[in-house]
Amino acid sequence: ACVVACSIENKTDFTINWRQVSTFNELKYPDLSVFHHSLACNHCDDPPCVRVCPTQATYRLPNGIVAMDYHRCIGCRFCMMGCPYGARSFNWMDPRPYIKEYNPEFPTRMRGVVEKCNFCGERLALGQEPACVEALKETGAIVFGDLNDPHSEISQILDQEHTIQRKPSLGTKPSVFYIV
Ligand code: SF4
Repeated sequence: ACVVACSIENKTDFTINWRQVSTFNELKYPDLSVFHHSLACNHCDDPPCVRVCPTQATYRLPNGIVAMDYHRCIGCRFCMMGCPYGARSFNWMDPRPYIKEYNPEFPTRMRGVVEKCNFCGERLALGQEPACVEALKETGAIVFGDLNDPHSEISQILDQEHTIQRKPSLGTKPSVFYIV
């Protein structure tokens, strides 16, 4: 449901994945042979994709979101090599003919640029939650919020639950945590 909601909101097609669900036990918990986890950009605090971009087409906003300016992207794909999480996709062809549901609130990208999850910044600007979070609202499987606010729901959950981040040893400081 989170993948479908993301695809509709952000007009991604079958070649582009902003969000995907993996059953690969990357986190190496032997008792969790089938561990489904929803993957997207981690909006790292120290993002290597930003460091290697030669045109500043990708950058970190003050609120922590790692954003893309598709008009500045020259398609060099350095950011894809810099990201250790495979969170970015390259448009090898014009994605527009393959998009089934049209969302007039968010622009389509074009051939030759890299794209990725933006935490639905256009929805946040309207006071809404990211589409994936809203799609799973009843289950509470994804919680979104302000990590800098100690009273936010997300901060309380991080205080109470045992959580892990993807590849913490790389020093990228992901802003996405997984409850295990
Ligand atoms: Fe950049 Fe990858 Fe971190 Fe997202 S997950 S901020 S694309 S390094």
